[in-house]
Amino acid sequence: VKKIGVLTSGGDSPGMNAAVRAVVRAGIDQGLQVYGVYDGYLGLYENHIEELTRRSVSNIINRGGTVLGSARFPQFKELSVREKAVENLKAANIDALVVIGGDGSYMGAKALTEMGYPCIGLPGTIDNDINGTDYTIGFFTALNTVLEAIDRLRDTSTSHHRISIVEIMGRHCGDLTVSAAIGGGAEFCIVPERGLDEADLIAKLKAQVGRGKKHAIVALTEKVTDANALAQKIEAETGLETRATILGHIQRGGNPTAFDRLLASRMGSYAVDLLVQGEGGRCVGIHNDQLVHHDIIDAMENMRRPFNDKLFDLSIKLA
Ligand code: ATP
Repeated sequence: VKKIGVLTSGGDSPGMNAAVRAVVRAGIDQGLQVYGVYDGYLGLYENHIEELTRRSVSNIINRGGTVLGSARFPQFKELSVREKAVENLKAANIDALVVIGGDGSYMGAKALTEMGYPCIGLPGTIDNDINGTDYTIGFFTALNTVLEAIDRLRDTSTSHHRISIVEIMGRHCGDLTVSAAIGGGAEFCIVPERGLDEADLIAKLKAQVGRGKKHAIVALTEKVTDANALAQKIEAETGLETRATILGHIQRGGNPTAFDRLLASRMGSYAVDLLVQGEGGRCVGIHNDQLVHHDIIDAMENMRRPFNDKLFDLSIKLA
């Protein structure tokens, strides 16, 4: 391996830049030339590829988003499209790639590996929904963002005797919601892994109102239910004003926290080590603070992430 590429793909997450920087600098440190591919797999197809130097990645470790850009490019599932991408890699003499993204990006990395281009996947998403790792790059930054929002909502909902529903990202994974519920002191935590029992939630809220409690925070993972419709029902049943706040893409932005910068730096450097050792089709994770790597397909198909029941129970115990 003499020349490697790095790209970011799928939804962006804080810490992706720190990972790109680590790949570039660790690669150069190993005597490699490192190329940045812009806008994920789209840039690979459109040949938007440039060599990166140590200087090219100056001043980005602290920045959210991704300086390489990202894209949704579903056409990459087609063989003919990937063949064009492989031609571009061949023309630039790039032997291997580091792909920073989520599940979908891992599928692309696996497909390229099978076509003779070894790829290493790094887990970049705020959702913490990738198998084979305890934490993904961006999760803790997003968690801090959510906590800041909950703190602010608490101020106003306490003053106005209001129930606040906070809709939190995570797609089908409740990790961000559970951690935010504990850290933000939410009264209720609703996650896809446990589902929503509306009647039970309303009964508990009513009981609280009966005991004189005049405000509450409900942490809710996106996609479980319509947050605004739920707010209307709760208001009708409890008589307390109820508002839903959908945090949305705010959660994706912001400067990465210390943990995410360290995680991304460690993982980026480790990905280069793996490529130099001739590995491909692997995804990097962190488990009990040790860097680990797994076969991408095995990780996606067989290594189901167990839902953290203990943390969920704690969110209820301390509510
Ligand atoms: P996030 O979890 O943040 O949404 P993601 O990586 O899962 O990130 P996707 O949009 O699912 O986001 O995937 C990113 C890109 O990976 C796709 O736009 C596409 O270019 C490529 N991709 C996804 N699935 C495949 C596949 N089966 N084969 C080849 N490429 C794929």
